[in-house]
Amino acid sequence: MDLKALIRDVPDFPKPGIMYRDITTLLKNSEGLSYTLDQMAAKATELAPDVIVGIESRGFIFGMPLAYKLGKSFAPVRKSGKLPAPVHAISYDLEYGQDRLEVHQDAFTAGSRVLIVDDLLATGGTAAATAQLIQQMGAEIAGFSFVIELAGLQGRQKLPGQASVSSLVVY
Ligand code: 5GP
Repeated sequence: MDLKALIRDVPDFPKPGIMYRDITTLLKNSEGLSYTLDQMAAKATELAPDVIVGIESRGFIFGMPLAYKLGKSFAPVRKSGKLPAPVHAISYDLEYGQDRLEVHQDAFTAGSRVLIVDDLLATGGTAAATAQLIQQMGAEIAGFSFVIELAGLQGRQKLPGQASVSSLVVY
């Protein structure tokens, strides 16, 4: 299935010069949505994760149904101040300034195999910070699963070398 045809390209969003890859048009297409999740699930099954971690917010959209399909648990990684119980946190650099990601301390146990899910891999900063956070908690990175990868930004190179990284659509 041609997933690129279902992803909407929005020029100059959120700022001039950026070509935004909009996944809402993929979500709107029921066959495309099923195909996307089936493909992600097939790759994820091979990695035998114990838990799926979704990165706020579009990582929730794909990560949670993936957890359901695999019969595994799901944990959200959220922006600062959103999670109610005690968290572990990590700060990471953005193009301008810093951002902070958090996960509940009891989201998974040390030694768990964690699959990290997001809609899109760009520079890799968000996924790399998430991986570091998870490793600091004593869990193991089973791999990364993205719908879209912007290969020109070389985000893969920021991710832990031994981890499996899969994406369904590459620009
Ligand atoms: P990175 O940290 O790899 O540079 O950026 C990845 C994060 O930014 C992901 O959480 C992703 O949701 C978001 N993102 C950046 N550019 C786009 C885009 O063009 N489309 C979508 N859907 N998300 C984007």
